[in-house]
Amino acid sequence: MRFNTALIHGNFASDKKTGATCVPIYQSTAFSHDSAEELESIFKGSAPGFVYTRLNNPTIESFERRIAFLEGGVGAVACSSGMAAVTLAVMNIAKNGEEIVSGSGIFGGTYSLFKNLEAYGIRVRYVADSAIESFESLINENTRLIFIETVGNPKLDVPNIHALSEIAHSKGIPLIVDNTVTTPYLVNPIKLGADIVVHSTSKYINGSGNSIGGIIIDSGRFKWDESKFTSLVDFRKFGRFTYLAKLRNGLFRDFGSCISPFNAYLNSVGLETLGVRMERLCENALRLAIRLSENDKVLAVNYPGLKDNRYHSIAKEQFGGRFGAILTIRVGSKENAFKVIDNLKYAVNLANIGDVRTLVIHPASTIYINSSAEEKESAGVYDDLIRISVGLEDIEDIEEDFTQALEKIG
Ligand SMILES: *Cc1c(COP(=O)(O)O)cnc(C)c1O
Repeated sequence: MRFNTALIHGNFASDKKTGATCVPIYQSTAFSHDSAEELESIFKGSAPGFVYTRLNNPTIESFERRIAFLEGGVGAVACSSGMAAVTLAVMNIAKNGEEIVSGSGIFGGTYSLFKNLEAYGIRVRYVADSAIESFESLINENTRLIFIETVGNPKLDVPNIHALSEIAHSKGIPLIVDNTVTTPYLVNPIKLGADIVVHSTSKYINGSGNSIGGIIIDSGRFKWDESKFTSLVDFRKFGRFTYLAKLRNGLFRDFGSCISPFNAYLNSVGLETLGVRMERLCENALRLAIRLSENDKVLAVNYPGLKDNRYHSIAKEQFGGRFGAILTIRVGSKENAFKVIDNLKYAVNLANIGDVRTLVIHPASTIYINSSAEEKESAGVYDDLIRISVGLEDIEDIEEDFTQALEKIG
């Protein structure tokens, strides 16, 4: 089954009872059972069935099955947000006294989370660049996972997923990859060797910016060393589902991180058009990047699709010749950046990516407002940087919009 067909038919069929083509929204908190024995077996894990929407729900499960199929995982757990997914994916295996090795260009929210995890005894070490040796040199006996994003945001660095998975496995730890920015349309990290994939589905999977959601997908392949991953020992009877079973019966349940059935429905509907949207978004982004690099008001354009970009060849190899829809530009000063943003007519100024609309933000004064100069530098955030999440408008209109706004900076 090819990608666009899989979006529509992969692990999904019309509702058996009614023929409904969209997944029904089971807006029910709990699910009744005919006998006490039946409910007992569900609680024991020896029979399938729904209990309570904080644990699972048919609408949510349908979304999980579709994403697991697209990412090539054995299963998935949908969460209330991308941040819930990232939090739980790492806390499911890392605990007090243990460490994470992370890429440095990561999403601001994840960076903030990692800072907060220090209070719980989990230390995060950041690589200075995306070199494989830099990751390797930070791994020690307390490291429990490597965490990367397929494309750092807003640094737009592109780590080599396959090479990092080999390093991780040689040290007996899993590679967790945030695939939000590229989506399964551009890459399946599991096929390249990653063990666990997370998404903020609020972005491209939803596509229209109408609901928050996240998801964790497990490849089911990683061999958990029980002396290292002691908290998984009780769940080993679940075999390939050890990680997911611990997650669903552990912090996911106890933190109450479930997605609402309605948001799972909206994300499922959005998912069906992911392929055509991504195709157009990537085309639009490349065109805008080329056009902006010809504009003399723009000092630098960062987009992995540009041939002279540092990450062009690895991005081309990993993402099959398309490069996503996020780019950044530098315009000389914070004042210039503000002037451009304030003069844009179509591009909307807000903190999000992956909408149908073109979005812009000045990261230094918003997402990174509480970061030190050093932290900003390591995240690739400069005072004159504007991040652009290209939308589905006719790209000529967006090009004209940027051209006129850039004219204003004199
Ligand atoms: C937005 C985002 C998140 C967080 O997702 P939310 O749904 O906003 O909680 C995590 N990772 C990346 C790469 C993101 O862009």
